[in-house]
Amino acid sequence: MKRNKLVVISLDSMGFRDLNELRDLVPNLAQLIEKGTWVKKVQGIFPTLTYPSHTSIITGQYPAVHGVVNNTKLQPRRLSPDWYWYRKDVKATPLYDVAREAGMTTAAFLWPVTAGSKIDYNLAEIFPNRIWTNQVMVSLKASSPWFLMQMNHRYGKLRHGIKQPWLDDFITACAVDTLKNKQPDLTLIHLVDMDSMRHRYGVRSDEAKAALQRLDGRVARLIRATKDAGTYDQTNFVILGDHYQINVDKMIHLNQLFAKQGWLTPVDGKTTYKGNWRVTAKTCDGETYVYTRGNVDLGKVKQVIAGVEGVEHIYDGAEAVKLGADPKCAFLVEAKPGYYFTDEVNRPAVVEKVDPASLGTHDRYHGVHGYGPNQPNYFTTAIFAGPDVREGATVEGVHLVDEGPTFAALLGLKYPAPTAGQPIRGVLKK
Ligand SMILES: [Zn+2]
Repeated sequence: MKRNKLVVISLDSMGFRDLNELRDLVPNLAQLIEKGTWVKKVQGIFPTLTYPSHTSIITGQYPAVHGVVNNTKLQPRRLSPDWYWYRKDVKATPLYDVAREAGMTTAAFLWPVTAGSKIDYNLAEIFPNRIWTNQVMVSLKASSPWFLMQMNHRYGKLRHGIKQPWLDDFITACAVDTLKNKQPDLTLIHLVDMDSMRHRYGVRSDEAKAALQRLDGRVARLIRATKDAGTYDQTNFVILGDHYQINVDKMIHLNQLFAKQGWLTPVDGKTTYKGNWRVTAKTCDGETYVYTRGNVDLGKVKQVIAGVEGVEHIYDGAEAVKLGADPKCAFLVEAKPGYYFTDEVNRPAVVEKVDPASLGTHDRYHGVHGYGPNQPNYFTTAIFAGPDVREGATVEGVHLVDEGPTFAALLGLKYPAPTAGQPIRGVLKK
């Protein structure tokens, strides 16, 4: 039986509130909501970060199982640690592998954690750090080399390094070209414009709203590409977010406190610290992991953290596993809205106000994510539309891990092992 195609477009940091309150800004998304099924409130995963979230979306598993527990790796000596860029970091089976095994063609455009994967047409997301500096966007080794060179040759003039909004314009042009000329069975697209604007200017800023409008236009271009290709009638579309964001104005530098306790050693004159730590915080922005090594009094560590301004909740290691977070952590600590964690030492104080003049530099934000997914008004959202999707329907609440299994159902595929998430029945026609 011939299955319909699937195009998944991730609009990074799109929340339920965007579609519920700003519908006028997104005529194309509004049309999709009318034509398809709007899954209104999607609860994210611990921590609500981009890489763990996209990996949960595509595997149907929580980070504790798929292994991508954070955006970046624990590398205390580096100001900008490596990200979980590579497919080999994913310990569960992503849907693109299942599709490929079934003989389907696959394509991905900046979909996180796909570098070195076997996706047929892949522009992998791999970059030096998260302040979107002007450096080489993708390495040839990590993507499909011939495809990358071809795309860069045709559309490279659209981008200015990895700066937004030009990066999303470049990615959209590449995806449009591929939808038209390669007509993949499964296409995954990740657009980051709005997330960048929220980090820099705030969650509900004019800049973020302008980005949302731009994204709406890009979604329309991507859909039009399938009409041009003649594949529109056989294509299901999913437009989803991975998490929302929360405005912040204060930072918590837990490692500064740990240094005072003698649990780690700062590098002189730098905000990094040495590899001989016994207790260390590893930030997820709205939350932070705390790891310990050797003989450490966990009660004492917890007591020290509990005394810090802006700490909302401390989950111990066993609780963190139940929440689907890193099984290796000693604690998972949650900040109150308005606060976020850094990994830095040698700062003026443990809790520090964000200097507005510093916004846009490394780890200086107006909005962040990475909190627990149960923060109020913090849901992400998803729209499904296409020949196998119910028309004019809504679904109230699901979990992020339910999305991959729903994609699998739409493609007629099965993950090789049971997933934490289940297909969202309210979306499927049959
Ligand atoms: Zn994100």
